[in-house]
Amino acid sequence: MTLPLREEFIGQEPYGAPQLQVSVVLNTNENPYPPESKVIDEIARRVASASANLNRYPDREFTELKEGLAKYLAAESGVAVPASQVWAANGSNEIMLQILQAFAGPARTVLTFSPSYSMYQEYARNVYSDFVEIPRGDDFSINIAEAPSIFADHKPSVVLIASPNNPTGTAIEQAELRKILDASIGCGPEVGGRVTDAIVVVDEAYGEFRRDGVPSALELLAEYPNLIVTRTMSKAFGAAGLRLGYMAASQEIVDSVRIVRLPYHLSAVSQAAALGALSHRDSLMKQVNQIRTDRDHLSQSLEKMGLEVATSDANFIMFGTFTDRHKIWQRLLDQGILIREVGPDGWLRVSIGTPHENEAFVTGLKEAMK
Ligand SMILES: *Cc1c(COP(=O)(O)O)cnc(C)c1O
Repeated sequence: MTLPLREEFIGQEPYGAPQLQVSVVLNTNENPYPPESKVIDEIARRVASASANLNRYPDREFTELKEGLAKYLAAESGVAVPASQVWAANGSNEIMLQILQAFAGPARTVLTFSPSYSMYQEYARNVYSDFVEIPRGDDFSINIAEAPSIFADHKPSVVLIASPNNPTGTAIEQAELRKILDASIGCGPEVGGRVTDAIVVVDEAYGEFRRDGVPSALELLAEYPNLIVTRTMSKAFGAAGLRLGYMAASQEIVDSVRIVRLPYHLSAVSQAAALGALSHRDSLMKQVNQIRTDRDHLSQSLEKMGLEVATSDANFIMFGTFTDRHKIWQRLLDQGILIREVGPDGWLRVSIGTPHENEAFVTGLKEAMK
């Protein structure tokens, strides 16, 4: 039998960060703390109540959830976003796919600054778009001065910027983001003979972990109708298993994305569980602060070991450099510690765990480096 698989998929492997049963799991940037029992109870209560209506399709517009997310964004970032300008889906991965389905597609270009999130390339491939990676500098920053000419050359319909970036950890400065946004005006593809503005997506999957004084891109939303800020409940919110991502953007963008979403894409169970988790944002924020403090301590420990450490606004740290990083990764795994072999040559990435896990990692790394 010969299947008509799309040619670009032949020989491709599906996404697969290893899911291994080891004692210290620090490879996918999850929150190491499970939900508190009062959060579990609240989620269970809401899911039970939603279950009574499971014979019906859910609220297609998830009105209550959008309101909850808008309130959360206001509390977290200080930026008031109307609920109608919030949009949610099954993980920010689905949000990204919906954005590309609406604004990219065949014969269009999706552009990013690498190294960055490995999934971007796959989303672009899945919607038949060209994918352009512009290398970042040695300090993993974007060469802002070159942005206007890069955009003019490639006419991207969508520019993807993870900030804080994954796997490097660093957030883009607001003044720099502003320059990118300014450069994006009039730089999109021509549509029906008209010049368009490129969509700029700032992926703030790790936004809650940014250092004090680092603003969210949400602050620029009102000024730039072509800006999208995506967030997720997978990382800071400690709910990776929930699959709930969301975005804030202009009404025009949200309405465009609504065209491509599958009917009733967000189940009643997901909506109820997300609302349950959101109602406990205060205890969550305490955890986030703990993780940020532990991150800064771990960065210092790694520096003391003579390692290079990329500045992190996230809940992970990229460190190096090793002539044989795979050997270090393997030696850690042999001790039951799983981190991620990702990023530029010679670098490794570790997620922030509990203080106990972080300590085990430092001890294990010292052993691995002997
Ligand atoms: C983890 C991560 C996401 C989150 O994806 P979800 O689908 O919301 O779990 C998005 N962007 C980046 C850069 C990430 O590292």
